[in-house]
Amino acid sequence: MSRKGAPRKPAHRLVVLGGEAARAPGKVWLVGAGPGDPELLTLKALRLLQGADVVVHDRLTPAPILDLANPQARLIDVGKRKSRHTLPQDGINQLLVGLALEGLQVVRLKGGDPFVFGRGGEELLACRAAGVEAQVVPGVTSALAAAAGAGAPLTHRGLAQAVTFVTGHAASGAAPDLDWAALARPNHTVVVYMGVSTAPAIAERLTAAGRDPSTPVLVVENASLSQERRVLATLGGLVQAIAGWDGPALLIIGEAAALAQADSDQARRLVREIGDDVLGRRA
Ligand code: SAH
Repeated sequence: MSRKGAPRKPAHRLVVLGGEAARAPGKVWLVGAGPGDPELLTLKALRLLQGADVVVHDRLTPAPILDLANPQARLIDVGKRKSRHTLPQDGINQLLVGLALEGLQVVRLKGGDPFVFGRGGEELLACRAAGVEAQVVPGVTSALAAAAGAGAPLTHRGLAQAVTFVTGHAASGAAPDLDWAALARPNHTVVVYMGVSTAPAIAERLTAAGRDPSTPVLVVENASLSQERRVLATLGGLVQAIAGWDGPALLIIGEAAALAQADSDQARRLVREIGDDVLGRRA
């Protein structure tokens, strides 16, 4: 519930009006925490963290980011595991509203960007419905950090004219409900969030819809963190390349992924083969 050390208490803000104690209205800030590296926080996120009465965060929020919060602020972990929600979304919505109605400045810290597969919209609507003022602060979504860290552009002249962010989330083993024909277009980057466990179905559907099995796929786990790992594979070899991976990871599928920096012999070979092929076609 709170960071290590002394437990934190909410700092209630009371305004005295005509001899009666009345609460000034609180506010909820839905703040993007970025992909994990504290240096990828925005200055606005940092300022709000430093001024917060309460910080409501997810399980995966790195400690160095929480350490930047106001030392008086109460930290509340509403962490979610893949299939075990410690607090259901409705409960989180009610918590945010309740804290703001107590007159507190609430920072709801969300990984990456609150509006990219982050359920930030639901929290915002819950605040609006309760008449609680809420504002959103964008964050660096993990796709941007993963691509930047690997040196693999998401769009690139001649290789990727578009980039599409999709969710790979589906009942385990099933394929997510996506427009496979559109995603199979060449010269187009597809970034799959939450797609590790459904990668076999995704690779199968994309190739069935016509995407070349030799299309490069860059997989980045824990982007921007010290434990980041990445692999460059092809659509046909994807499943084998990430066997056993279970951390938060993105699949970056498309010709431009071939520009990823090679950090192993296998990757170097792939970059040479795929890169020469793809770049050759562009010339
Ligand atoms: N709002 C977040 C996404 C939340 S959905 C954002 O904008 O990034 C959770 C998924 O995001 C994970 O399953 C994974 O696919 C991706 N993700 C989040 N952080 C990541 C990281 N540091 N590295 C790689 N993938 C990450």
